[in-house]
Amino acid sequence: MTIEFELPKPLVQARTVLQTVAEEMMRSKSRELDENEGAIPWDYIEFMHSAMRSLGGGSLAPREEKPDWQPPDPQKPARPPIAYQLLATQIETLAWGDVAMYLTTPGGGLGAAAVQAAATPEQKAKFLKRFTDEKPTFASMAMTESGAGSDNSAIRTRAVLDEKTSEWVLNGEKIFETAGDKSLTHYEKLGRGFVVVWATLDPGAGRAGMRAFVVESGTPGLRVVRLEHKMGIRASDTATLSLQDVRVPFDHILGSATVEKTTQGFKGAMATFDATRPLVAASGLGVARAALEFLQSKLAESGVQIRYGLPRQKLTNVEREVIDMEIMLKSAWLMVMRAVWMADNKKPNALESSMSKVKAGDVTTKITQRAVELLGPLGYSREFLAEKWFRDAKITDIYEGTGQINRLIVARQILGYSGRELR
Ligand SMILES: Cc1cc2nc3c(=O)[nH]c(=O)nc-3n(C[C@H](O)[C@H](O)[C@H](O)COP(=O)(O)OP(=O)(O)OC[C@H]3O[C@@H](n4cnc5c(N)ncnc54)[C@H](O)[C@@H]3O)c2cc1C
Repeated sequence: MTIEFELPKPLVQARTVLQTVAEEMMRSKSRELDENEGAIPWDYIEFMHSAMRSLGGGSLAPREEKPDWQPPDPQKPARPPIAYQLLATQIETLAWGDVAMYLTTPGGGLGAAAVQAAATPEQKAKFLKRFTDEKPTFASMAMTESGAGSDNSAIRTRAVLDEKTSEWVLNGEKIFETAGDKSLTHYEKLGRGFVVVWATLDPGAGRAGMRAFVVESGTPGLRVVRLEHKMGIRASDTATLSLQDVRVPFDHILGSATVEKTTQGFKGAMATFDATRPLVAASGLGVARAALEFLQSKLAESGVQIRYGLPRQKLTNVEREVIDMEIMLKSAWLMVMRAVWMADNKKPNALESSMSKVKAGDVTTKITQRAVELLGPLGYSREFLAEKWFRDAKITDIYEGTGQINRLIVARQILGYSGRELR
């Protein structure tokens, strides 16, 4: 048996095409968008939307098999599934360009990922089609509340069924929602997006009572009440949402409408994160690669050569550091690739998904920090992007489960403990 470490051709092609977008459209805007928090990169959004539409999709998301899908011809060698591997490669490349701008790429984002993970085929058909429409369209996911972050069983947003109208009535407040503003406002330029809101059917039932609801933009009672000012990823909007007597149709619930003694609803959330955590990891590694390559180019300009192949004790400290950074980056990338390969091959990947996120969170923060340090004044100056990458890096270790929470998930998976036994 041979082990093949070459990237499949479609991945190489995707990287080459998007590298041009990253260099030409993203890097040139990075500083301006960072300095003007809240500015929206419309040119990028429109360009990416028409590019993705012309390729047959309207979203950076793995494609579903078409309903008229036929089994592969046994005469021809089967093509291995690579949708998530492709996506991770695309995201890493765009994040190398600018991770905050990447987060403004139109499409379903976390919202569509939640629908993919927990919806029926009819719901998927209903909610996911819009991303290929004429206007760029966004979706997002609102789980976090002021009293419920890492411990999402503490969610207080309520969903109550109005028996007379068969509608769900949602009340609560959600904070720190990525792309919340673009999912729900800017009607003149954007299509009708949605937010997947996590709420409880029964506050006494803990995780068994948790369900997700698709709430469309324009629904009365749903408002964006605040946008965060942030340390990094400043081109990405982060919204606070208020839900006051928001009525959604009965069939907008993802999963069962009754509360049983199972945590099936919560498992929907976890399935979303199994799919998206390696993608967050990939976005962080794009930032880390940007910082490392910039450091290497500045070292080369000042005459520092990295003498690969020499015994470690003969290397300078800077050489050793750069080589260590390369090792960290490559090993983290291999972990991402393993997690997305498992997703492509429909293998349970909760362990690998969280591992890749932990590793990428660490590596991204370490590499960007060391780059700033080794670059000296150039690293700290706003003339260059190294200081921005340092600020952009930290979020990799925060959203979609902090480093500590993902370490807990890894430990539970390895040791066979439940969430209640190890927390
Ligand atoms: C820019 C940004 C974008 C975001 N986007 C979204 C989004 O789109 N949708 C969404 O729903 N949420 C989003 N979030 C929220 C994010 O997922 C939460 O911030 C994160 O899950 C942590 O929750 P918390 O902030 O309430 O921190 P807390 O849960 O209060 O944690 C505080 C600290 O304690 C640690 N900690 C907590 N519990 C444990 C434990 N059991 N063991 C060890 N350490 C522990 C945490 O790791 C952390 O370091 C976003 C956040 C940010 C900053």
